[in-house]
Amino acid sequence: TLGILALDKQGNICAGVSTSGMSGKLPGRVGDSALPGCGLYADSQAGAACCSGDGDEILRYCPSYKVVDLLKQGYSPQNACLSTAKEIMRRRGTRGAFEMVVIALDNKGNQGAANIGVHSYKDEAAGIQYAGFPFVTLSDNMTEAQVTCS
Ligand code: ASP
Repeated sequence: TLGILALDKQGNICAGVSTSGMSGKLPGRVGDSALPGCGLYADSQAGAACCSGDGDEILRYCPSYKVVDLLKQGYSPQNACLSTAKEIMRRRGTRGAFEMVVIALDNKGNQGAANIGVHSYKDEAAGIQYAGFPFVTLSDNMTEAQVTCS
């Protein structure tokens, strides 16, 4: 999955997600990525969020909507992502393996991210091993993209 959150100079914010889905998926499967509130959500009054991971379960929690709702309540993007991840972990209890990453951007340009179950990620093409799940930030006052791990 490739998720993008973008904010323009007028304060308009948007989210976009592209995915090939899960390997071995049944024909016709719709995962979280295409569903507003689940794989992505944006509201220029607060911010935007998007997710990657085990979509069949992610869509049960509407995490992108939850993160943006917390932004509206005054949470920072980082705390909104962490709070949402903790709530999902609480609801899942001791059920089996699960991976989810959520990233968020508020309408001031602050960012945040959290993940469940992603301890490391290898970019095979670049031969780089990340601790956690990497995401990239780029703004017009930066000369090159910055990689951060959730
Ligand atoms: N969330 C995607 C899906 O379930 C998969 C992914 O993030 O790679 O379709």
